[in-house]
Amino acid sequence: MKLPFVTADTVKAIAEQYPTPFHLYDEGGIRERARRLKQAFAWNPGFREYFAVKATPNPFILKILQEEGCGVDCSSLTELMMAKACGFSGDSIMFSSNDTPAEDFRLARRLNATINLDDETHIDFLQENGGIPELISCRYNPGGTFSISNAIMDNPGEAKYGFMPEQMINGYKRLMELGAKRFGIHAFLASNTITNDYYPTLAKILFTFVVKLREETGAEIEFVNLSGGVGIPYRPDQQEVDIQAVGDGVRKAYEEVLVPAGLEHIKIYTELGRYMLAPNGVLVTRAIHEKHIWKEYIGVDACAANLMRPAMYGAYHHITVAGKETAPCDHQYDITGGLCENNDKFAIDRMLPQIEMGDLLIIHDTGAHGFAMGYNYNGKLRSAEVLLREDGTTQLIRRAETPEDYFSTFDFTDFFPKIGGAYNTYSARFGEF
Ligand SMILES: *Cc1c(COP(=O)(O)O)cnc(C)c1O
Repeated sequence: MKLPFVTADTVKAIAEQYPTPFHLYDEGGIRERARRLKQAFAWNPGFREYFAVKATPNPFILKILQEEGCGVDCSSLTELMMAKACGFSGDSIMFSSNDTPAEDFRLARRLNATINLDDETHIDFLQENGGIPELISCRYNPGGTFSISNAIMDNPGEAKYGFMPEQMINGYKRLMELGAKRFGIHAFLASNTITNDYYPTLAKILFTFVVKLREETGAEIEFVNLSGGVGIPYRPDQQEVDIQAVGDGVRKAYEEVLVPAGLEHIKIYTELGRYMLAPNGVLVTRAIHEKHIWKEYIGVDACAANLMRPAMYGAYHHITVAGKETAPCDHQYDITGGLCENNDKFAIDRMLPQIEMGDLLIIHDTGAHGFAMGYNYNGKLRSAEVLLREDGTTQLIRRAETPEDYFSTFDFTDFFPKIGGAYNTYSARFGEF
């Protein structure tokens, strides 16, 4: 049985304190995963995880990961700002972006972040916007399809990311001309993989390319960044990745390819988001309406604006009805949010225990790419984020948005020029409603 990290009693007590919906995170689970990952790669002295901030951009979460020795992987200006505010700098920040604006590169350079360039044209663009650092990395896209034992995992040839192989060769040469002296290499070739073979297969491709790159350019590679892509079992019938076996598989490729080439100083980096955080977060929501038409619907107080994955990808998220963990799943429901979009469904034709109004539904595995992908369509407000600490207490790590937040980017002076001044606030204009 797939159960969430909180018991029904605990989640009910938390929902007394914080109004639903909210995202709840498990501090103990986050620390445990960070330690397990570190252990799996302990054979590589320079190993480091750079947590992909975009998965769960919350400073309190980043601080926990920082305490566990992780760096951060940023993809934008605001993520860099958050990293800086949390005390990350220099080689604790990876900057892996694409279609990068000039100001993002300039801030990355000011923080002395390690930059993974996404395209050969970004070399000169970076030279003009902050300058080429001594240590720099390029993102590799070998094209074609990415397969593991004949099964196609993903389609790099259709992906917008990275340099083609020839561009990599020319790119490192150009970087050397512009003064770069130390190098890394990066690739992200398949997403949400639930096999122990993804990283080892990717590692072998990159290690082989590193040897060729050195032969053809003389570039000395210091790190290989395997990026993200290790998945989690969203469905109850899926197997958890064995991260120790993943680490051992990468070690085997390292010993086969890099050690014989005299490259046993190379550090392995990862930029995992989903693996680290997804199972350590849940979305807690309450059943507020039931509807009996052509199908049976349960309407909850969360919507796709709080968790977009089901609507966007048709993604499965397991649901537990708090307190009914062992009740028979003898009712078939669509679990819906209130957006004016028919894809605003957390589950379709899901067999669940009978749901009463007021029941708490725990939507699993929302700790990565959950809250983070939130938006304000239909004027829906972003929820709170709550941390369940290791000692069993809770901490509000982000308050819920209020209507005032929603209206804060309007300047009412322009809308109501005769009023303006003291009336130029949400509370003055809308407080009466
Ligand atoms: C999204 C992303 C990650 C994290 O991916 P996960 O699937 O969450 O592990 C890491 N690196 C880069 C460059 C990304 O874009």
